[in-house]
Amino acid sequence: MLKVKRIDHIAILVEDLDEALSFWSDTLGVELTFVEDLPEEHAKVAFLPVGESEVELIKPTTEDSGLAKYLAKHGPSLHHICLEVEDIEGMLEGLKEQSVQLINKTPLTGSRGERYAFIHPKGAHGVLVELYELPE
Ligand code: ZN
Repeated sequence: MLKVKRIDHIAILVEDLDEALSFWSDTLGVELTFVEDLPEEHAKVAFLPVGESEVELIKPTTEDSGLAKYLAKHGPSLHHICLEVEDIEGMLEGLKEQSVQLINKTPLTGSRGERYAFIHPKGAHGVLVELYELPE
């Protein structure tokens, strides 16, 4: 049985990380937990927990990445939502069986041991959806 547990994070693409952080942490009072450089993703990210979920701010660090092109086209905007799932492999299999268009057919592993994959916006009614399975 496929199971989505909660919204892990909502990701926002920003042009200026310091300005965005100033809004989220100084103006709204949401506490920043960490900032991480992800050279392989061509991005710098900041995480701000809100209850059981987090806001992820993403700043592209190169000019020609997919993220940078998205930012150039859409401006600073909501980029994706991430759902924590119980069994990411089972979830991807289930989605394939239902012919849902995926960006990643098998999970990748992130810096905190999380396994993740993206569902294509065409398969999710216009929204980029990330799936996460967190390490125990
Ligand atoms: Zn994400």
